Amino acid sequence: MRRARAVVTGGAGFLGSHLCERLLNEGFEVVCIDNLLTGSLANIEHLFGREGFTFIKYDVTNYVHVPGPVDFVLHFASPASPIDYLELPIQTLKVGSLGTHKALGLAKAKNARFLLASTSEVYGDPLVHPQSEGYWGNVNPVGPRGVYDEAKRFAEAMTMAYHRYHGLDTRIVRIFNTYGPRMRRNDGRVVPAFICQALAGEPLTVFGSGQQTRSFCYVDDLIEGVLRVLFCQISDPINLGNPEEMTVLEFAHLIRKLTGSQVPIEFRPLPVDDPRVRQPDITKARVYLGWEPRVPLEVGLAKTIEYFRRVLAAPSGP
Ligand code: UDP
Repeated sequence: MRRARAVVTGGAGFLGSHLCERLLNEGFEVVCIDNLLTGSLANIEHLFGREGFTFIKYDVTNYVHVPGPVDFVLHFASPASPIDYLELPIQTLKVGSLGTHKALGLAKAKNARFLLASTSEVYGDPLVHPQSEGYWGNVNPVGPRGVYDEAKRFAEAMTMAYHRYHGLDTRIVRIFNTYGPRMRRNDGRVVPAFICQALAGEPLTVFGSGQQTRSFCYVDDLIEGVLRVLFCQISDPINLGNPEEMTVLEFAHLIRKLTGSQVPIEFRPLPVDDPRVRQPDITKARVYLGWEPRVPLEVGLAKTIEYFRRVLAAPSGP
């Protein structure tokens, strides 16, 4: 019998590369598509020798063709950090809108199941806490983060339209803050920023008063959740994330403790539209998928710190 074949867009990115690896481990053939705008070959170098792995350097905002059968299309391509949205606003909008349309078109042409990597950003600066899937969000469409938030909201609408109108088999995961090895060192997100600052002996840059909250999920837990959603029968969005919430200031102290670094904390202006709180309500994933995060924050962070120690020691790394 033929092996299942999955196309992963954004497969050379942080989440995409972990997803490709996990799918290969599960016996899938994997076609990884990435234009390497924010993804990196270093993330998938170790997969090139693996049987069943193919890489295509391509921008999925254009018409996508993949020869041969395809059983699953997992759309993970997108810039994904607030700095990226400022530097790549048009690309962010395009990959969330045109890229989602093309990826859906590929899934339809191949009669494949489609999974959209959506985001907690669809909730914006939430007025409901914690955020459950039934909340419609509080997004500023014209702010600097709007390019990501609105593109993902459009992507969800487009996915549901293909589901309802074309009968396409679709899934939507709303991914909350996720961390782990292969995050980009300079992408400006709080996890790589604080870890690299602490390891370099530089002050930790806390934005605002640091009283805003986030809830951090280790990448392995997240990928497990994605696979469970892929093989469940629910087409409505499902939150995936770790409900353990903390303030950014508490997180800075934790990074100092775990790196054993006594660097000072420096307060910087809060970026525009920075959400004040964020915590996933994962009742739906718990009840319907039997999924919840298993990796304790300190354990996941220790692995991530170890990764960045290696990256910083090798100047040519990602
Ligand atoms: N943040 C910070 N210092 C940094 C980078 C980020 O205090 O050097 C804060 C940021 O303002 C936000 C939180 O950390 O409140 C998480 O930011 P990140 O960019 O990781 O992701 P977001 O959840 O905002 O998309």
